[in-house]
Amino acid sequence: MSGGDKLDFEIRPNPAPVSAADRAALLVNPGFGRIFTDHMVTIRYADGKGWYDARVEARAPIPMDPAAAVLHYAQEIFEGMKAYRTADGGVNLFRPEANAARFGVSAQRMAMPVLPPETFVDSLRRLVEIDRDWIPTDPDGSLYLRPFMFASEVFLGVRPANEYLYVAIASPVGAYFSGGVKPVSVWATPEYTRAAPGGTGAAKCGGNYAASLVAQAEAIEHGCDQVVFLDAVERRYVDELGGMNVFFVYDDGSVVTPPLTGTILPGIIRESVLTLAAESGHRVQERPVSFEDWQADAESGRLREVFACGTAAVVTPIGQVKSPAGEFLIGGGEPGRVTMALRQQLVDIQRGDAPDPHGWVTRLF
Ligand SMILES: *Cc1c(COP(=O)(O)O)cnc(C)c1O
Repeated sequence: MSGGDKLDFEIRPNPAPVSAADRAALLVNPGFGRIFTDHMVTIRYADGKGWYDARVEARAPIPMDPAAAVLHYAQEIFEGMKAYRTADGGVNLFRPEANAARFGVSAQRMAMPVLPPETFVDSLRRLVEIDRDWIPTDPDGSLYLRPFMFASEVFLGVRPANEYLYVAIASPVGAYFSGGVKPVSVWATPEYTRAAPGGTGAAKCGGNYAASLVAQAEAIEHGCDQVVFLDAVERRYVDELGGMNVFFVYDDGSVVTPPLTGTILPGIIRESVLTLAAESGHRVQERPVSFEDWQADAESGRLREVFACGTAAVVTPIGQVKSPAGEFLIGGGEPGRVTMALRQQLVDIQRGDAPDPHGWVTRLF
């Protein structure tokens, strides 16, 4: 496809979709990432040919040659976003053009071709359209969308591949917190780092997650829900969690998050929180926060709240921190007022229950 031409999708409906009764049973308690809809989107890319063969088709295994480049050198990127059912029966996406842009940035970092942002958004619109009956009616549920792309070329040489497959799948998900928002505990790993300057920390690539799993396992061994990573150079400043950005709320009302210096994933919820907090009159700052200050300020009470944020859990209070140097609570281990207000503001905008002055919501239907 040359620039400017719109890619047409061939629609091949699944000849054997899940029955309405079976779907209803699956949607009672979908959990996260366990069940999938009837369809997927696929688009192919080849050097010299561009993007071609855009399809909406039955979700099915992807045949792959054992020498496909992704299986060896991990050229793979992904995105994560949600389609929300609105009170009036419509369907919303939250800032899909931001996901599209970030997908392009990730692609460039991994030496992959950039899918045109309008094709990215169009692919999700078509997937949600054909599978819209899979969006849970539970007001805390949503349809999680997972667009991804990988090197499909059959070649073991080490260089950027010249063939890629873009795929989008959808998975109904329930409330992230069943039984109300509960603060999580985090383990500050002394052993592992997530991203170094010049590395891939700002790209949403599967490899970052592969490298974080052992640290997450270490967190669980220490009785924590999540791992928090410190910077790779000084092992001193807070970067982020395995898949969520982190915010600090102080007694003077200031809201602080570490700056985007290339080792932190530029979260769309992070950016939205910065905007909403500033509009609510908080002083917002993007500046480094050291782990020693985190502990000292939590213990003195100057630090009132800490939360993690990302599409999956929106805004999640952090109530307890553990490290080899000991452990401490934040805000007595209870969810903070600023945290919960920001969470509610975001959820209301995402679901169309509050005005959307920033034009963050794309109404699909
Ligand atoms: C996806 C992701 C986030 C959150 O990004 P959102 O756009 O807010 O969902 C944060 N950190 C990492 C490492 C991520 O992969």
